Amino acid sequence: MDNRRRSPLDHNHGSVTHTSCDHNHAHQCLDVSGPAILAGESHVHNSENWVVYEHGHAHYYQATSGPSMPTANGWHVHYWDFYTTVNDGHRHHIKGLDMPAPGV
Ligand SMILES: [Zn+2]
Ligand SMILES: [Zn+2]
Repeated sequence: MDNRRRSPLDHNHGSVTHTSCDHNHAHQCLDVSGPAILAGESHVHNSENWVVYEHGHAHYYQATSGPSMPTANGWHVHYWDFYTTVNDGHRHHIKGLDMPAPGV
């Protein structure tokens, strides 16, 4: 019997990060993901949004997280790794962990 508490599918995750630095600038990326989507034994999240408009332009992204990764307190996080759209002749890379949500 699995005594880990599964997370409800109606949870989502926030994250506060910066894009990679390209063309001598980065953008703030303040994300709220979509709800969980079952994926095998785990779940993933989709997200799409604009990064913060800075330096005269913004970039759009559509991304899917990695599977649920348990944290020490029984919650979980996801790893994200994706590229924004090309705007103003360049794009940015975004990667890192989001904020924890209850369950695994
Ligand atoms: Zn840019
Ligand atoms: Zn999740």
